[in-house]
Amino acid sequence: MNHVIGYQCTTCRRIYPRDVAFLTCPECGIEGILDVLYDYDRIASHISKERLRHDPTPSIWRYLPLLPIEGTMIEDTLRVGMTPLYQARRFQEHTGVHHLYIKDDGVNPTMSLKDRASVLAVMDARERGHDTLCCSSTGNAASSLAGNAARCRCQSVIFVPKRAPMGKLAQLIYFGAILVRVDGDYHDAFSLSQQAIERYGWYNRNAAINPVMVEGKKTVAFEIVEQMQFIAPDYVYVSVGDGCTIAGVYKGFRESHRLGLIEKIPKLIGVQSSGCDPFVRAWKEGKPLQAQPELTLADSIAVGVPRNPQKAMDAVKASSGRWVSVSDALILEAMRRLGQDEGIFVEPAAAAAFAGAMLHQSIPGATPEDTVVVIATGNGLKDTKTALNAVAEPHMIKNNLSDFIAFYHNETQRRKHD
Ligand SMILES: *Cc1c(COP(=O)(O)O)cnc(C)c1O
Ligand SMILES: [Zn+2]
Repeated sequence: MNHVIGYQCTTCRRIYPRDVAFLTCPECGIEGILDVLYDYDRIASHISKERLRHDPTPSIWRYLPLLPIEGTMIEDTLRVGMTPLYQARRFQEHTGVHHLYIKDDGVNPTMSLKDRASVLAVMDARERGHDTLCCSSTGNAASSLAGNAARCRCQSVIFVPKRAPMGKLAQLIYFGAILVRVDGDYHDAFSLSQQAIERYGWYNRNAAINPVMVEGKKTVAFEIVEQMQFIAPDYVYVSVGDGCTIAGVYKGFRESHRLGLIEKIPKLIGVQSSGCDPFVRAWKEGKPLQAQPELTLADSIAVGVPRNPQKAMDAVKASSGRWVSVSDALILEAMRRLGQDEGIFVEPAAAAAFAGAMLHQSIPGATPEDTVVVIATGNGLKDTKTALNAVAEPHMIKNNLSDFIAFYHNETQRRKHD
């Protein structure tokens, strides 16, 4: 028995019972994204600081009472979550903050935070009797769904835009997904996947639509709470594309607060690339979101038409947070620094959050004493081409010692001046 009591439409605020058969609000249509409601008084008898401290479960399943599934098949899944939280002792110097932590979600099974949503989607699908799941994605949701579905003997059908990097496509082909590479952008891939889902009745993993995805993503906040010894950080930086991740992060902190695990909710800073920052512009101008071209190398957050803007906007506002944009140049610099300062390999979309943190001191009210967490949402091995652009192509030498000595001398000199 899970603790879901119903669903609430984030647009019209209508509440529906827990056993409904629709994904979005029937009154509002595709705009009516639902939010899962729980009985927190009952959950509180299963989740507390004391219980969590003694729970050895090494995955998101330690938060099962806060998830909308029965959990009868969780033994079948890949191990998602309980990723490390590191203090960034060298990188933090570039942010002017004395206490900066990295939540490294790039070490999840398919190497991105999306695994938190996908593993839950696969469990939800199986509990509802589906064996085929479908999504459209700029890449990580896709490879993540493909891997988690394979593990649980489900078929995945995945629509990707033309631009998706090969590293990500390789992953999902490898996992046996039916890959549909659409000659168009993310918007096109999304629309076509919706039509196909309607036609074939598959389970819909599109994060903007399916209310269960936020529920999986919120577990990253629960882990931060535990790993910070139940003391909430002041700020959390999150890269934003569709907005589902930051909405999940907010929900996780809000629930932690509701259950008495933390005393305040951190301010959330939503970070976008200045080449595609519809949230930042809408927030600054106080207007509805406008479609934007997708002009950034941070492909996982290049979403010109965010599908679920309301939850993300509400999350940042309710946390008293802000929206910021960062240039591609700063994203590349953040990638370089993270690699060399901390030994953490991130893809550009993940580096965006770190680039945002490099601007932390420009936030009104920010101080060097702030405790800041930055979420590394995806691994750099997903896109080695951009990684090499950020640093340098490998150099080849002749096979003899004197050439090596000259090369080594140059390298060490260059590093001194870096
Ligand atoms: C998907 C993704 C994001 C953004 O998540 P949204 O839910 O689309 O806002 C950020 N970083 C990486 C690496 C991602 O894959
Ligand atoms: Zn509605």
